[in-house]
Amino acid sequence: MDFCRIILLLMHCRNVIAASGSFWHISDLHLDPQYQKSSDPLKVCPSAGTQPVISAGTWGDYLCDAPWILINSSVYAMKKILPDPDFILWTGDDTPHVPDEKLGDETVLEIIEKLTNLIRDVFPDTQVYPAMGNHDFHPKNQLPTEENRIYNVTAELWRPWLGEPSIQTFRTGAFYSQLLPSPGPARRIIVLNTNLYYENNNRSIGLEDPGGQFQWLQTLLTKASETGEKVYITGHVPPGFFEKKRGKPWFRKPFNQKYTEIIQKHHAVIAAQFFGHHHTDSFRMFYDNAGSPISVMFLAPAVTPWKTTLPGVHNGANNPGVRVFKYDRDTLLVKDIVTYYLNLTHANMGAPEWKKEYSLTEAYQISDGSVRSMHLLLEKLMKDQGHFQKYYQYNSVQYDRSFCDDNCQTDHICAIREVDFAGYSQCVRARSAAVATPVLDILLFCPTMGLITLGLWGTLSKLGHK
Ligand SMILES: [Zn+2]
Ligand SMILES: [Zn+2]
Repeated sequence: MDFCRIILLLMHCRNVIAASGSFWHISDLHLDPQYQKSSDPLKVCPSAGTQPVISAGTWGDYLCDAPWILINSSVYAMKKILPDPDFILWTGDDTPHVPDEKLGDETVLEIIEKLTNLIRDVFPDTQVYPAMGNHDFHPKNQLPTEENRIYNVTAELWRPWLGEPSIQTFRTGAFYSQLLPSPGPARRIIVLNTNLYYENNNRSIGLEDPGGQFQWLQTLLTKASETGEKVYITGHVPPGFFEKKRGKPWFRKPFNQKYTEIIQKHHAVIAAQFFGHHHTDSFRMFYDNAGSPISVMFLAPAVTPWKTTLPGVHNGANNPGVRVFKYDRDTLLVKDIVTYYLNLTHANMGAPEWKKEYSLTEAYQISDGSVRSMHLLLEKLMKDQGHFQKYYQYNSVQYDRSFCDDNCQTDHICAIREVDFAGYSQCVRARSAAVATPVLDILLFCPTMGLITLGLWGTLSKLGHK
């Protein structure tokens, strides 16, 4: 009897272990091939534009895109940390932030090839699911809705990972789908080309369904529901808003709406979504019309440390980061996320060490990365300053360790909570009104104090102090 129980226990353990898997997610490598440790601050990297780069280091600079040595070290660090993942998600943006005139079809393709070869050399036996970023085309952002040379050449570069059926769909729209390497029931990954929905892409203006991708996605999700598949969705440009700039969406409004509707309709088969483009570590929640959480999207930090030049963004650089997802191979439940990073300042002082930054479940005391747990985390961020400030430091991978004030918190919370345009505006309005309430309270309930405050404010304004 005892012997039988031991056998059953061992079988149970084996099943639990078999169901546990891990995969890497890397994004936004943005190689700057011309980075050099020049003593001339204007000759360090083209990706800094006209900004002088003072005392550039070997491993890179926060004003520049990634030098080769940094990208190389990130991929070798991955190999050291988790050498045999189930697969790798690679969500695009390979080229530097430079004007189009400094790039061309050939340079873009050369960079995609260089990074592809690096990943394949270091992980020769690993399945990789690459997605195209808005910088993986020439001119940048202008990814077409039909077959073209860059899609065709890239498809060939990725042939060992994509396989023939995926290559066919990739050629026409740079999206594809495959079954995940799971020994159990069928589990699927859908790799989207959401650059077609990007507001800077002039080729999709006025189109209802660029490249037919929405229809293709809906057909796949309907089929998944009929056959009992679970699905991961991945891509580069995410829907919703940028948490570092108020009111900044990436998708055109109708595309954002359509994407949200598809998630609402098919959420039961979607286990999680994984995107890049922000260069920040964050997440997005999706809700049904009754307000129940139905889906979560994880946004991966970048490998490039490049400080964004997007007007209105304060201090928008990051330390290079890569991350491991621990997941259940049967259900595709995200069990944990462990982010690793290189402190660029320390690296340039002679200590180039990729270290664990944090684990999602340990840092926030939540049980996993499920929709429920991530909703719980959002509630914690809204209620608890300590948790929020921790999130804020992870957001830039420990680059920006300053205090995130009420306005800054509103930008983050509303971006996480509301992917929808109307919902986002409403969230910002409601939170801004709540912040303004104490001032209104003073004016309404303590008129004398209010008058003194207004008087002082008026005098200071005239003096030019605000
Ligand atoms: Zn990027
Ligand atoms: Zn991008």
